[in-house]
Amino acid sequence: MYDIAIIGGGPAGVSAAINARLLGKNFIWMGSRPTSLKAEKAELVKNYPGLPDATGEELSWAFKQHAESMNIPFSVRAVTGVYETGGKFSVLAGNEETEARTVILCLGVNAQKPVEGEEEFLGRGISYCATCDGMLYRGKTIAVAVYDGQFESEVEFLCEIAGTCYVIPLYKGYKGAPAKGKEIIKAPIKYAGGRRVEEVVFKDGRLAVDGVFVLRPSISYTALVHGLATVGGHIAVDRACATNIPGIFAAGDCTGLPYQYAKAVGEGNVAAHSAAQYLSENKGS
Ligand SMILES: Cc1cc2nc3c(=O)[nH]c(=O)nc-3n(C[C@H](O)[C@H](O)[C@H](O)COP(=O)(O)OP(=O)(O)OC[C@H]3O[C@@H](n4cnc5c(N)ncnc54)[C@H](O)[C@@H]3O)c2cc1C
Repeated sequence: MYDIAIIGGGPAGVSAAINARLLGKNFIWMGSRPTSLKAEKAELVKNYPGLPDATGEELSWAFKQHAESMNIPFSVRAVTGVYETGGKFSVLAGNEETEARTVILCLGVNAQKPVEGEEEFLGRGISYCATCDGMLYRGKTIAVAVYDGQFESEVEFLCEIAGTCYVIPLYKGYKGAPAKGKEIIKAPIKYAGGRRVEEVVFKDGRLAVDGVFVLRPSISYTALVHGLATVGGHIAVDRACATNIPGIFAAGDCTGLPYQYAKAVGEGNVAAHSAAQYLSENKGS
């Protein structure tokens, strides 16, 4: 079991990882991609101390190099759930489960809003995890809403299992070949049903389904961690970057404005120190 699981490969995550290493913690660092797309996008960063006129790409590269120079490994995983189990946490990503005594969420802000009904039916016919729940739908009718190319092999896996598989690609350049799937090029506006999800609703029609897989690189904070308190759409934290759940910390854009590199790395630092302090205060438990 790890001392700390750090989720997110952006500036907050890299800072948390560097500091966790310097604090001598046994930790795992993971994220849906090795750097943050958002962090790479800035044309010119004028407000990061010591590196005037760096581009977002250069800054991200420097962060990555720093972690690599300390031999900090990064594991590419899109996390679908964090669950508390008897004083420790299970971090689920596909069929991989990692246990840690503390978690640092460095998730950035999620630009993709959940579709109406997505969170309501989560666990009741809607799943974020193909490998965890795919087998439950052998021979059944499913829809797969896919938001990123990294999930194309999961789409293929689901279409092999399902009886009828409607693939709904929601990004440009979808290359998956739905051999046993039917591609639908329109965006769902709602997932509807009764006790479980029963339909995918579009502007101009609906599909009857037994289940829906929503494959996104990032999912909402509260869908990821049940019971996590938020304020104004961000994860609520105190000055120690502690959330309302003891042992879970958060850093960076996900905790609120301003969305800035310096705030993200500062909070990554604070969260790593707070996690270390929490571990020493809760040694025996
Ligand atoms: C065009 C542009 C220009 C900018 N210019 C500036 C500037 O000049 N100065 C400045 O200070 N800031 C600037 N910013 C803001 C800066 O990029 C962000 O504040 C910074 O990237 C925040 O870092 P973060 O680590 O909190 O989040 P992010 O960089 O968003 O990283 C979060 C990471 O977590 C991953 N993740 C999320 N959910 C999951 C999950 N479920 N499982 C696994 N991984 C997950 C994401 O894929 C992402 O890689 C700019 C941003 C943009 C887009």
